[in-house]
Amino acid sequence: MTLPEIKYTKLFINNEFVDSVSGKTFPTVNPATGKKIVDIAEGDKADVDKAVAAAKAAFKIGSPWRKLDASARGVLLNKLADLLERDAKTLATLETLDNGKPLTAANIDILICANTLRYYAGWCDKIHGQTIPADGTVFSFTRLEPVGIVGQIIPWNFPAALAIWKLAPALATGCTVVLKPAEQTPLTALYIAALVKEAGVPEGVVNVIPGYGPTAGAAITAHPDVTKVAFTGSTEVGRIIMADAAKSNLKKVSLELGGKSPLIIFKDADVDQAVELAHQAVFINQGQICCAGSRTFVHEDIYDEFVKKSVERAQKRKVGDPFTETTEQGPQIDDEMFNKVLKFIKSGKAEGAKLECGGERLGDIGYFIKPTVFSNVTDNMTVAKEEIFGPVQCVLKFKTLEEAIERANKTSYGLAAGIVTKDLNTALVFAQSVQAGTVWVNCYNIITPQTPFGGYKESGIGREMGEDSLKEYLQIKTVTVQL
Ligand code: NAD
Repeated sequence: MTLPEIKYTKLFINNEFVDSVSGKTFPTVNPATGKKIVDIAEGDKADVDKAVAAAKAAFKIGSPWRKLDASARGVLLNKLADLLERDAKTLATLETLDNGKPLTAANIDILICANTLRYYAGWCDKIHGQTIPADGTVFSFTRLEPVGIVGQIIPWNFPAALAIWKLAPALATGCTVVLKPAEQTPLTALYIAALVKEAGVPEGVVNVIPGYGPTAGAAITAHPDVTKVAFTGSTEVGRIIMADAAKSNLKKVSLELGGKSPLIIFKDADVDQAVELAHQAVFINQGQICCAGSRTFVHEDIYDEFVKKSVERAQKRKVGDPFTETTEQGPQIDDEMFNKVLKFIKSGKAEGAKLECGGERLGDIGYFIKPTVFSNVTDNMTVAKEEIFGPVQCVLKFKTLEEAIERANKTSYGLAAGIVTKDLNTALVFAQSVQAGTVWVNCYNIITPQTPFGGYKESGIGREMGEDSLKEYLQIKTVTVQL
C-alpha cells in the first residue's frame, strides 16, 4: 500500500493553512503501529480567536458568502461532493492511517460523506418560512435565518463522516464554521478543508483548528461570538460543553453523545442471521461506535445456541492490518482507549460474567484487542451499564417482551435500540416503548442522510441528518406588518 503524501498539517483559517500562534505542534499517531505519523499545528485560544474572527467577517451582511443565493450554496456543496469523490482513495487512506479502521470501511465512510453533501445541497434553496393568517389588521411571515458562527467539535471514531455530518447542514443553511477535529485524528478534516477552498467556498466560511479539548475545544465553546456549538463525543464532555455554553453567551447547543444500546433477539428469530446481525451491531468500527448494540438481550429459548454461535463468529473475525482487504477489525484508537477497554474486560470477569472468548490484547504492536464475548451478563455489572467503546459483546438472557423492554430502558442513555423478530406486533410494541432516538427492526446501524439521528435521555440534545439537522442551524424570525 503506497501511503499518500501528507500535505495538510496546519490550521486552516480564512482559506489558508497557517502555523499556530504559539508555534506548538502535537503528534498524530498510527494506532496500528503506535508510531507517529506527522506533527500537526496545535490550535489554542489565540488561534480560535483568529478563526472566529474570520468566521464572523464571512458571516457579515454583504460578505461574499451572505451575498450568494441559496441555490449557489447548493452548487458549492455538490462541487465539494465531486471533489471528495475524486479524492476518495486518498481520503480513505488517510482515514485508515490516522484512525486504524479497515480501508474497506473508510472507503464507505467517504462515500457517505459525498452522499450527505449532495443531500444537503438539495435542501439549500428549499429552506423557507411561513405566512401566518392573522386578524385582518396585521400580516405576519417568518424567515428562517442561519444561526450564525458555529463551533463544531467532533470525536475520532468517524473523523471524515462526522466532519461532513456537521459541515453540510451548517453550510446549507448559510452559517460559518470553526471546526475542531479530535486530537487523535486531524488528517481528513484538514484535507477536506483544502477541498472546501478548491470548491470555491469563500474565505472564512470554514475554518479548521486541530488541537486539544480543554484548550482549543473549550475556547470555541466559551467564545462570545460563537452563537451555536454542535458537539459529538462523550456524555461527560457534553455536560462540560453545555455548562460552558451557558456560562458564556448562552449559545445554542446540540449534543450527540454516548450510548449503551440494547439489541433484543426474540425467540422467533433465525438464530444464524441474528448472530451475524448482533455481531456486526457491536463489533463494527472496532466497537467504537456510539450506537453499538452493546447489550445483546437474547430470549432464554435460544440463548445457549446463540452464545455458542456468537463465540464461533467472534473467533472467526479477522483482526489485523487495516490496509489488508480481508481485515474486519483494526486497532483501537490509542493506548488510553485500549487500556480502558481491557479494564472493562477485567471488571466483567471480576463481577462474574463468563468470558467466552477474547479478553486480551492481540500481538504486541499497536492497539489490537481480540473480539470478546461475555455471557451470563446481568444488568448491574459494569460491562452492562457503561459504554465500553471496544470489541466486547455482552449477552444477557430474558424471558418476556415486557421484561426486555423494561431492562432495555434501564439506562441513562437512549441513543439507539434494535429488535430481531418475525412478529410485526412484537417489533412495533418494542419500537413504541423503547426510549431511544433510533430503533432498528431486523437490521442495525443503518444511518442515511435522510433519516434523523440523535439521542433520548443522556445520549444528547437535537438531531443530525435529515431535515431535522437543518433546524439545529436555523433560527426563526417573525415579521409582522400593520395593514
Ligand atoms: P470526547 O468527548 O473525549 O471528545 C470529543 C471531542 O471533544 C474531541 O474533539 C475533544 O478534543 C473535545 N473535547 C474534550 N474535552 C473538551 C472540552 N472540555 N471542551 C470542548 N471540547 C472538548 O469523546 P471521544 O473519546 O473523542 O469519542 C468517544 C465518545 O463519543 C463516545 O462516548 C461516543 O459514544 C461518542 N460519540 C457519539 C456519537 C453520536 O452521534 N451520538 C458519534 C460518535 C461518537
